[in-house]
Amino acid sequence: MSLLITGSIGLDSVKTPLEEHHDLLGGSASYAAVAASFFTPVNLVGIVGDDFPKPYLDLYRKRGINLDGLEIAPGKTFRWSGEYEWNMNNRRTLSVALNVFEKFNPTLPAQYRTAPFVFLANISPQLQMHVLSQVAKPQFVVADTMDLWLEIAREALLELLKRIDCLILNESEARALMKETSLIKAGRGILKLGPKYVCIKKGEHGCLLFGPDLFFSAPAYPLEDIHDPTGAGDCFAGAFTGYLTKAGKVDHATLRKAVIYGSVIASFNVEAFSLGRLQTLLPAEVATRYQFFQHMSHFEFGAV
Ligand code: AMP
Repeated sequence: MSLLITGSIGLDSVKTPLEEHHDLLGGSASYAAVAASFFTPVNLVGIVGDDFPKPYLDLYRKRGINLDGLEIAPGKTFRWSGEYEWNMNNRRTLSVALNVFEKFNPTLPAQYRTAPFVFLANISPQLQMHVLSQVAKPQFVVADTMDLWLEIAREALLELLKRIDCLILNESEARALMKETSLIKAGRGILKLGPKYVCIKKGEHGCLLFGPDLFFSAPAYPLEDIHDPTGAGDCFAGAFTGYLTKAGKVDHATLRKAVIYGSVIASFNVEAFSLGRLQTLLPAEVATRYQFFQHMSHFEFGAV
């Protein structure tokens, strides 16, 4: 089993109240691919410019990520910069430069076209559909999105929703998409737009998974020190889809486990800037934190 991932690959500048770093490896697909690589082989589709640092390519390779679908084009790599407040749930985008992404029109390598599992990480819904249309018969398609596309590409996003199996988005995006204050109504409403499942991320308050006869609520890991929240959502989604790919099936028990593995990998990623923490992360550490999640929410049935 292998997982096809597309999305942005970029160089990020990130400022928190305590630290500032430039030209970090970032982009939704970078985070998602590295997170997924803990569970399954990944085929990456994306574009970078000829200024993209070679050590970042090596980082993907060290994680076993297949780069046959990565285009290195003349020009500059996608760049994003953002600044966090003391409340790190609040982030301001300072700049975005699409650069080589402006002319990205990928043709998938032949071996990518039979991918059973697909993750469309955050990028324009038009581009997500362009990639998806080249996959022959995907078994399960997961997509992420962001507030920008709700504002400037709503129709394309609604079209995408009809073609995917699971949408992952954060709580403010879910409310904005459905024009709804209740998150529960928003979640159930999104299911009527096409996807069979929807996963709503609530940052440090965990996440909710909705589906037919399924409602699952997962807590977040109680981390004391968050150094850089960038990419937490992408890591969650990458690990979630990576685990489903490894399992090769999508039943309720597998989906619940996938949500917890997503939460585990995301919680490690925020411990350092960029993908620093995932580069040293060991499978045994993943297993220990997964067990912590199990114990954290366990309770016995009790008759009143
Ligand atoms: P997240 O923290 O999950 O929102 O993801 C942050 C990542 O998204 C950063 O590494 C950025 O490079 C990337 N990003 C920011 N804006 C966009 C955009 N408009 N399209 C695609 N990726 C973006």
